[in-house]
Amino acid sequence: MADVLRLRCQHLVTHQHGVLDDAVLVVAHAEIIGIEAAGSPATEEIAGWVVPGFVDTHVHGGGGASYATDDPAEARRARQFHREHGTTSTLASLVTADLDTLAAQIEILRPLVAEGEFAGIHLEGPFLSPKRKGAHDPALLRDPGPAVITNLVVGAGGAVEMITVAPELSGGLASIEAMVAAGAVAAVGHTDADDATVAAALDAGATVVTHLFNAMPSIHHREPGPIPRLLSDDRCVVELIADGFHLHPQVIAMAVSAAGPDRVALVTDAMAAAGMPDGDFDLGTLHVAVRDAQARLVEPDGSPGSIAGSTLTMDGAFALMVGLGYPIPEVAAMAATTPARWHRLDRVGELAPGFLADLCVVNDHGRLLRVMQAGAWLGAAAGKGMPDAGRTA
Ligand SMILES: [Zn+2]
Ligand SMILES: [Zn+2]
Repeated sequence: MADVLRLRCQHLVTHQHGVLDDAVLVVAHAEIIGIEAAGSPATEEIAGWVVPGFVDTHVHGGGGASYATDDPAEARRARQFHREHGTTSTLASLVTADLDTLAAQIEILRPLVAEGEFAGIHLEGPFLSPKRKGAHDPALLRDPGPAVITNLVVGAGGAVEMITVAPELSGGLASIEAMVAAGAVAAVGHTDADDATVAAALDAGATVVTHLFNAMPSIHHREPGPIPRLLSDDRCVVELIADGFHLHPQVIAMAVSAAGPDRVALVTDAMAAAGMPDGDFDLGTLHVAVRDAQARLVEPDGSPGSIAGSTLTMDGAFALMVGLGYPIPEVAAMAATTPARWHRLDRVGELAPGFLADLCVVNDHGRLLRVMQAGAWLGAAAGKGMPDAGRTA
């Protein structure tokens, strides 16, 4: 039994039993096989907070590499960059492209989904509102339709986990139904919908909101737009980009208190520029300039345009939320448990017997100290998370 790890955790964050002090997490063959009380023998002492490994359900790349690529090695580089920042489970998000290009990108990622490197693929476009396009190429946006959606999901053999649509587009609601029928998760986002239309989208089966607040109408007291219902309806989870730039802290506070940690998923929406010095990058077919770690489109005249993804990492989001005053167990729910549950991910998002030994160790300030994936500590690289976490926070 030499390969059994017995980790005595100063603070072990569990979903079922709350925080257990000095509990021993028993790990064998990549899996958690038990949790034992304080006083049980241990092979290793872990100072700080042991939380479930982070689950990022909206991310385009990082470390100079993108998931939208014709080279699987590039996708693996981006995946490893985020793993070193605590992301032990992730979707791979693809921005708007023409359908043939998307199909080719999906084919590159499919084997990586099959081997477990990715939990699935997220198509953020092209079925988005031209009025709320954000950093998506307007020339490539198009209406959805049940047939095209079903072809995308079925054609990918289960690798497409989620598609974002603007439900007000022609065919939008029928596409949400088709997505759910085909086994994928329907997300509402990049939308100009009104309240009644998002209500219909939820009735049709949408369960995720792509970066709530960003790329949708703001709240007006007589014309509420999509936000109040998406915040308060318990049929959906809302993604928040907690980088200190996309959302004001008071707006984060409103969202967390309205939806609760069981309906908030922290996401990075990171692009290749995450973890890189300021510079110029591509996002799909568009050009992005990163200045002071903030990514914006470059307009044809060279001026700064829309916010274009982020340079956030999950450890940066975690530390930012702890810095705003949220308790570490609540942040762990929003960074891991909640996204894993809403995406029905197998054996991740919790520290409990039968789950994979995917975990992060953070200090009292929520700063990442170490990462374990499938029972193995990441090398010295895990410590690299800290300076970048400070930068994005
Ligand atoms: Zn977006
Ligand atoms: Zn995105």
